[in-house]
Amino acid sequence: IPSKLPAGKTSIFSVMSKMANDYNAINLSQGFPNFKTDDHLKDLAYQAMKAGHNQYPPMNGVAGLREQLAAKIESLYGAQYKVESEITITTGATESLFCAISAFVHPGDEVIIFKPAYDSYEPAVKINGGKPVLVQLKGKEFKVDWQEVAEKITSKTRMIIINTPHNPTGTVLEKEDMQQLERLLKDADIILLSDEVYEHIIFDGIEHQSVLRYPKLSERAIACFSFGKTFHNTGWKMGYCVAPETLMKEIWKIHELTTFCTNHPIQHAFAAYLKNPDNYLSLGNFYQQKRDKFLGLVEDTNFKAIPSGGTYYQLLDFSEVTDERDVAFAERLTRDYKLASIPVSVFNIDEKDNKQLRFCFAKTDETLEKAAEFLHRVS
Ligand code: PMP
Ligand code: GLN
Repeated sequence: IPSKLPAGKTSIFSVMSKMANDYNAINLSQGFPNFKTDDHLKDLAYQAMKAGHNQYPPMNGVAGLREQLAAKIESLYGAQYKVESEITITTGATESLFCAISAFVHPGDEVIIFKPAYDSYEPAVKINGGKPVLVQLKGKEFKVDWQEVAEKITSKTRMIIINTPHNPTGTVLEKEDMQQLERLLKDADIILLSDEVYEHIIFDGIEHQSVLRYPKLSERAIACFSFGKTFHNTGWKMGYCVAPETLMKEIWKIHELTTFCTNHPIQHAFAAYLKNPDNYLSLGNFYQQKRDKFLGLVEDTNFKAIPSGGTYYQLLDFSEVTDERDVAFAERLTRDYKLASIPVSVFNIDEKDNKQLRFCFAKTDETLEKAAEFLHRVS
């Protein structure tokens, strides 16, 4: 039987995490925190189970959680979304992204994706018969060249996927980027898919440019979010998407076929936990300290960094350390120096053009100190 995804491979996140385990290395590869989920949140989940929320929840999610999210979106981004029809709880942001792409990409449609790109977008487009149109982010600061985007838009362009703060580079879109996007999409029949899973992990006082702040964009946008990133529990696999009703109706058709609904008691736990905005508003400061700690620790190595503007990843340039290709170097670092990272070429960049490794700094200070010690040894 011919493969539907002939170029599909095991995700680099599985590959590097396995390698980290096999070699007993510190794992700064796959993006997840190594500190504890708040006990109070775990208690809330257990209470919800004991209260009997153990059967299927509504397809679009528990009403109380959707209400909390509508209030959060309004207070942060000044946008109003209908609780009943415009917010859907999914199994991680991954499911939101997949449902959005499957709902709108027809065979032959083109989808503009910026590279380096998170690894789930392109295969999801391809499995639906779509054609990814890749636009390279420019320069050391990975900026979008909007002129190039304009040139790549054709009558077949169905969707543009943006991601801010951006995995793996840590760059963030600015107000001017959103205005450019507004201009580009003004009279076009194009859907905007906005991956905002790191909405709260943004640094140096910069404001997250959610698509939801821009009515001319949000009228055609699906925005995807992840509880896992925000509340230190990536293994709970909970996320959500928001979109205008007409778009959400189409997403539901796919959501009903993939998972139908998602974990019931955990939704109640988040509904209660979200009542206290401190539980997420402090996240940017928390991770900024982690970023600064990591940058300080590697400052006098031969790895060079431009500080990450958001996400819990930091790229390190290794051109002064070795001439090796990034995958080979990342493997050697894991095997011989007991430190796992992600080679950035796997985000669809030509290996010979890449000299960067991605390190996840969502780790205890002790882990970061150990990791830096290994980076000193290799430099
Ligand atoms: N988008 C980006 C940019 C990510 O880094 C991740 C990784 N976790 C996801 C989506 C998927 O999120 P989730 O774990 O909630 O499925
Ligand atoms: N988003 C996480 C990362 O970029 C991992 C997600 C996954 O393991 N699929 O590392």
